Amino acid sequence: MNRYDLHTHSTASDGTFSPSALVRRARERGVEVMGLTDHDCTDGIAEAETESAKIGLTLIPGVEISATWEQGQLIHIVGLRIDRTDPVLQAGLLRLYELRNWRAEEMGQRFANHGILGTLEGARALAKGAIVSRVHFARFLVANGHSRDINDAFDRFLVKGKPGFVDEEWATLRECIDWIHSAGGQAVLAHPLRYSLPPDRLRRLVEHFRDAGGEGIEVTPGSSAEGQTSAHYACEFNLVASIGSDFHGHASSNLNVGLHGELPKTVRPIWETW
Ligand code: AMP
Ligand code: MN
Ligand code: MN
Ligand code: MN
Repeated sequence: MNRYDLHTHSTASDGTFSPSALVRRARERGVEVMGLTDHDCTDGIAEAETESAKIGLTLIPGVEISATWEQGQLIHIVGLRIDRTDPVLQAGLLRLYELRNWRAEEMGQRFANHGILGTLEGARALAKGAIVSRVHFARFLVANGHSRDINDAFDRFLVKGKPGFVDEEWATLRECIDWIHSAGGQAVLAHPLRYSLPPDRLRRLVEHFRDAGGEGIEVTPGSSAEGQTSAHYACEFNLVASIGSDFHGHASSNLNVGLHGELPKTVRPIWETW
């Protein structure tokens, strides 16, 4: 097991483990340094830090910010080692929180027009006061027999062109990176190979990200084809490499916090800059 897992989610966004339960699980699985990177919010960090101190895990305060790049392409940017009290960062996250609230209402309206009632209230109840994610809508749709499972809910209702999808404009790459830098953190391009971009466009994304001030890129450890390809971008654009499971809890496709394998020797791990 790798000592580092720098990309995880808790109930502060769309994960199913509370921050303390997540930290305990990570420690049990051999993680020594864990980044908590909830979507567009830092609300879970205080609890995670308290629990981490008790069990001897190093907690890296983080965030995963939603960005829109070029023609409506959703991109995620992870901020690591952020000062969560930074007013510039928090003003940016507040803007995205308000956008999420607006989007949730719009989604509820669209589902109602489509004949499925109560989705906004259902999603809000499942979010329990945390930011409302498409995942909460998906869980409601599954619980109420509209979808077989979370994937089915996304495929049929929650992606571009489907009845519950709202095409919102998140922050720009530069805004996200500036907020993270204002908070003293490092900006990392999350899961570059999951955007399904053709190679030339992905290369341009990495270049734009670097030009906007980003310093890192996620590289999958081990010898998978995915890891090799991201490693290549890290080398070409002189970005440090970060790793993370993107664990969301039991109900997600990433079933475990913690990662097997090492980074390729060609890249510089982000923690060497710490
Ligand atoms: P949001 O940030 O509210 O737009 O929701 C995006 C989140 O939905 C991502 O962070 C993933 O956790 C989750 N997600 C996206 N696509 C899928 C999918 N096909 N199946 C399950 N979860 C998904
Ligand atoms: Mn998520
Ligand atoms: Mn992501
Ligand atoms: Mn994530």
